[in-house]
Parts: sequence; structure tokens; C-alpha cells
Amino acid sequence: MLDAGELPTLGGLVERGAYGDCLSTVPSHSWCAWPSFMTGLNPAGHGVFDILEHKPGVSKRLPITWHSIKAPTVFEDLTRASKTSLALNIPLTFPVPEIDGKVIAGGVLPASRSYTHPQDLQSELDSHAPFPVNGMSWTTYRNRPEAFLRECAGITAKRQKAFEYLLDTTEWEFGVVVYVSTDRIQHCLMEYVSPDHPEYGRLKDSSVAEQTRAVYRQLDDGLAQLLKRTTEDDLVIFMSDHGHQPCTRTCTMDRILKHLGYLEFGRGSFAFNLIRWGPGRRIARRIYDTFKLHGKVSIPASPIDWSKTRAYTSVVSTGEGVSVNLKGREPNGTVDQRDYEKVREEVAQSLSAFRDPDTDAAPIGRIYRKEEVLKGRFLDTAPDLLLVPAPLYSLTHARTMIEDADWLSGDHRLEGVVVAVGPQVTPGPLSETVELIDLAPTALAGLGVRSAIERDGKVISQFVGASAALEVDAAGAVAGEPATGGLTSDEESEIEDHLRGLGYVE
Ligand SMILES: [Zn+2]
Repeated sequence: MLDAGELPTLGGLVERGAYGDCLSTVPSHSWCAWPSFMTGLNPAGHGVFDILEHKPGVSKRLPITWHSIKAPTVFEDLTRASKTSLALNIPLTFPVPEIDGKVIAGGVLPASRSYTHPQDLQSELDSHAPFPVNGMSWTTYRNRPEAFLRECAGITAKRQKAFEYLLDTTEWEFGVVVYVSTDRIQHCLMEYVSPDHPEYGRLKDSSVAEQTRAVYRQLDDGLAQLLKRTTEDDLVIFMSDHGHQPCTRTCTMDRILKHLGYLEFGRGSFAFNLIRWGPGRRIARRIYDTFKLHGKVSIPASPIDWSKTRAYTSVVSTGEGVSVNLKGREPNGTVDQRDYEKVREEVAQSLSAFRDPDTDAAPIGRIYRKEEVLKGRFLDTAPDLLLVPAPLYSLTHARTMIEDADWLSGDHRLEGVVVAVGPQVTPGPLSETVELIDLAPTALAGLGVRSAIERDGKVISQFVGASAALEVDAAGAVAGEPATGGLTSDEESEIEDHLRGLGYVE
């Protein structure tokens, strides 16, 4: 679309800015990537690895929240420096952080509680530029692309208005606005917009393809409206939290682990098996969609027999992580500490030797031991193995162990995008590797704001000039560790059901 001149605003940024790949975190899903952006730390530095987490003393895994981020974010640094920020629709900003500035919480939100800071901002928005929360649950639109695209366009237009309203009514110094329609679209309509999807040639001229491109043009126009609200002195960064790649095949990591002999399913409930594995799943989906049961009736969770399980999928949202069922760490651990390395190595070998029985291809492109890609205080609870899907594969969303992708046509990849324009930017292709965790420390350095802690991310001199550096306060405070996520149990199940609609939880 850039080449065809269909995205003139973004094209203009690329022409006068610095641009290239922005490497996401491992795992690359948004619930891990956005806290990494906000803290400038790799995931083991803030402790969020998945959409669900174990709380002390509770064996059921619960949805993560803002309180799950166990390190100070840059918003706290900005607040201490009395800089006014806008944090609009950033995933995982709920319960809403009380920063100096304004927040519209992002991610999936319970309906009953305020999603803004200050709290009365919500009624102000309601009367001037109402902000729709949630929505665009792509899995609930299975095979109804046009209805899904109508919702994407409608929600995006309303959010755009709310963003513009806040930019116009706030004296802000640091602002982040997040659009999620590209992510949702690229999960299920990738074949219409991505030339590297095998079906693209057949579909690119269809009316659905045209309607899909229209959402990208809408976003490009929205970007133009945001840019009008900046000056030549502002550093503007266009970024993604991860990239996307097409997929035609999809897996369930727990089924692969069972196939390889590391995991056993329990007998489970009748309802679970009906919905999860049988043709009943499609029927159940339809019933859920028709009667709008998402968020009201919960689907039973996966019944793993922990006593017969040595390794399990620890990043359930995307299948990008596998952990050893380690005694002392896991609620029902079976593997002794002294066997940890041996078991982990065995699982890694088996996973890398695993082949798709129908195509003979390897679904897992790369396997990392966690210490190869992560470091920090929370390394112990990080997934023991991190998996990167091979081209054309997704490691989640399958009904069986491995099958043709149905409705799903794209999934995350590490290589995302970044473009920067501003007074100190050296235009042209990036001269060094840029990672997602670099962007917030770079912004702090650009604003001359001191950080409370050392951040893993580096200051990108191509964006803010060679003399800009991030200064760290020696007496930096480390965030406390609240015992709970700050949600009621009703809100927890409500969020969990929204996550199902987004395909993050099965
Ligand atoms: Zn996504």
C-alpha cells in the first residue's frame, strides 16, 4: 500500500524520517510487549509473560493487570518530573494508573468500572467524544469478514475522535496512542493484504480486500490528524509492538506436548471436550456468537492431569512458551530441581525434531532457552523455553494438534516497524538495531527526564541526537509488589471471556 501511494501520511513520514524494523520482545504478544515498551525492560525485568498468571496460593491462573507489571514504567518517571502524559488505549493500563496526565485504559476491560484517569474524564469523553472500550473480537466474527470490518472501521473512527479531543484539550508533553485494528485485521484477514500469504493473489482484488485496505487508509488519515497536532519541535515515533506474518497452518502446543509424551490431559468435563475437541466446538462458537454469551457464560478451562505432566504450555495466549512442571515453582510440580536441565533439554530436542505430519515441515522455527533472550529479577518464573513459529505457522488457535488454519490467517512475529521524525532525527534507514524496549528510554532521554531505574533499552541516537543520554537516579525506587491484580472475581471472569473473543484464551 505504501508503494502504491495509498498511505500518503505514513509514506511522508518514511520519506523524511528514520525508518526500519523494530524488534519485539520474546514472547511477542501484546500483553508482554506493551509492558516491555512502558518499562524499557525485557519481560524478565517486569514479570509479565502471558495473558494469565499464577497468583500466590491460587492454582487457577488469573488475567494479568497493570499491577502485574513489577517495575516502574516511564510514566512514573514522567510524573515525578512533572511532565504531563497522555496514555491512550495502551494494553494493560487497567486498573487505571494515576499518572500526571490523562489515561484511557487499553486492553480488555470490565464494563462496570471507570476506564479513565482522572475518573471524571470518562463522562467528559461521553459527552464530547465517546470512547468505545473492548470490541473487535476477531474470533467471534468467524467467516463474517464484512461485519468484522464494519466494526473495525466504526470503533477506529470513534477512538480517533477521542484521541483528537484529548490532544486538543490537554497541555501534554509525552503522548502515546495505540490503535489495535491492524492487529485484529492481520489475525484473520491477512490473506487480503499481505503479498506473502499464498492466497493473496486470488483475493487481492475482492471486495473484502478493498474494505480491508480502507481501514488502513482510515488509519493513515487518522495519523495525519494526529500529526497536525504536533509541531516541528516534537519527536514523533510511529511504532508497532510486534509484526505480523501470514499463516496457513495452526497448532495447539499442549496437544503437541501430549503427542511427544510430556503432558497428559485429565478426563475433563463433558462440556470441555465437546467444545474443545469435537465438531461441537463450531456449534458452541455459533451459540456463543448468536446469543452474545461472550463475557457471560464461561467456557471450561483445559483439564491437564498435572501429576502425569512434565512440561506444559506456559504462554497460553500464543503458544510461544513452554515450561517444565518444576517442583517448588509450579502448584503441582512433578520434576525435581536436579532434573530440570535434563528435562528442559529433552523437551527442546523433541520440539525441534517435531514435524507437521501432513506437510513434513517444522512448525517451530526457533527455540530459545530463556537465559538466551531474557534477563532480570523474574527469570525464574519466565517460560523455560521460548518458541518462535516458523513461517506460515501459528502455535495457537487449533482445534486439534495441528491443522489447516480456519479464519486465522496471520499471527505475530518479532519484526515490527518503526519510523521517527523530529528535530534531532537523522533520516534514512536505521543505522542500528532498534528494539521495542529502546523507544521509551529514548523518549525519556529526548525529554531530559531522569529514570528511577536502569532500563534495558538503549537510547537511539539516530532519533534524539548523539548527546542525549538517559540519566538514572541513584536512589531509584523499585515498584512495590501488590498481592492482587486489583480486580474482583467477577471482573476476572469477565476479562477472561473477552480474551477468548480475542483468541488469546481457548
Ligand atoms: Zn495480536
